[in-house]
Amino acid sequence: MNIEDTIVAISSAVGPAARMIVRLSGPKAIDLLSQICGQAPTEPRAYRTPVRMPPSLAFSQDRPSIPAWIYVFRAPKSYTAQDLVELHLPGNPLLVRLIVEDLVRRGARHAEPGEFTSRAYLNGRLDLTEAEGVAMTISAGNDAELQAARQLLSGELARRLKPIMEQLAHGLALLEAGIDFVEEDISFISAAQLRARLDGIEQGINDLLRNTARIERLSHEPRFALVGRPNAGKSTLLNALARHDRAVVSPVAGTTRDALSVRIALDRGMVTIIDVAGLEAVGYDPHGIHAQMQDRARRTIEEADFVIQVLDASEDDAPLDLSRAPDLIVRNKSDLASKPRSPGGVPTIDLSALYRTNLDVLERKLSDLAYGLRDSGATLALGARHLQALDDSLASLTHARSSIDTGAAELIAHDLREALDALGRILGQVTPDDVLGRIFSSFCIGK
Ligand code: GDP
Repeated sequence: MNIEDTIVAISSAVGPAARMIVRLSGPKAIDLLSQICGQAPTEPRAYRTPVRMPPSLAFSQDRPSIPAWIYVFRAPKSYTAQDLVELHLPGNPLLVRLIVEDLVRRGARHAEPGEFTSRAYLNGRLDLTEAEGVAMTISAGNDAELQAARQLLSGELARRLKPIMEQLAHGLALLEAGIDFVEEDISFISAAQLRARLDGIEQGINDLLRNTARIERLSHEPRFALVGRPNAGKSTLLNALARHDRAVVSPVAGTTRDALSVRIALDRGMVTIIDVAGLEAVGYDPHGIHAQMQDRARRTIEEADFVIQVLDASEDDAPLDLSRAPDLIVRNKSDLASKPRSPGGVPTIDLSALYRTNLDVLERKLSDLAYGLRDSGATLALGARHLQALDDSLASLTHARSSIDTGAAELIAHDLREALDALGRILGQVTPDDVLGRIFSSFCIGK
């Protein structure tokens, strides 16, 4: 990846939208801009200016102009620390693609995934954890992930790592100074002092591990299993939550033949809801389709994070014999029910899936179950790459400690350098190219 190329990409979401954004970054960004808008807006600010349509078959005679907002950022005060231009254009995917192709013909290159952010990193605008925060913000599926992404983006991991790295670098410097004066038998740090310093560093790393969440766990999408007798209204409820018809709803018992699922957006994140059908035995049939369905249904229930039992409130619907207790009971068909709700140990919500009454209460309850009660302050979260580096660092420190008694200062220094390098890798200070490639290729193009 040559960072002296001028790159271009559509950086708004895919598909039609009110406005679409084209981003250009690199030394030729201003020149290319002046070629397509007939003037050279070089001051860093926003301009309202027409952009000339590229020559194409449809516009072969005259080249109409289209209105655009243009944002000019000059190096180094831009996201990429290069000259950077954003064209905010009317949201027509064809038109925007033609403009991008035109810019490529004039000398820009299509950007690779994440290339704008990788330039920001390579030019020192972001450290690697902040760049990961950008990727995480883009892919966040829930509130907690977004907050953790914001923490990474704000440089919180670097802030917590730096004091540990400084302690380590200082210890290393003292040790290395001693190596230089070994002939004179001068030592700048005693074995006891070194041991105490290693204690502090290890404790710092362990505190960091203890006081952070795991990105992988935050991004887990909670799954709810909907269970109930045939005709209780599970499919109707699933459709009402999905706001479209996903499941076939029928008054004939046992119509839903297999597990259907929908992903829905609750106020704090996405969840998956699975309609588990086939729990009811229909005659004795140990090897047939019903037995298989029951097996599958039981597995779905066991693997779900939460179980919602749907009862038909208009009938004496006895609870099902489930392998685990439900986390929530929904008494459906409240429009037909005359009996008041019976209090029980499990939280219960009365609603009508058909008439969509009380669905908001259910959605709030699902959100609380899935994402906990509203307290969560923003936590810093670590991903697999960070954890691996912290582990490597701890392993090198343990090795260094074992060399203290044998007194080989060079060996200890070597281990301390490795421990420091491992921490530096988290911030991208000594990161091999393949790791960088992997991080930035997980981005989308235009970011
Ligand atoms: P499932 O077998 O549990 O998936 O049940 P369905 O969703 O197929 O619903 C069975 C029948 O109950 C259908 O005729 C639905 O229209 C009806 N039904 C579902 N929810 C309600 C409700 O809240 N009120 C009333 N009156 N009927 C409902």
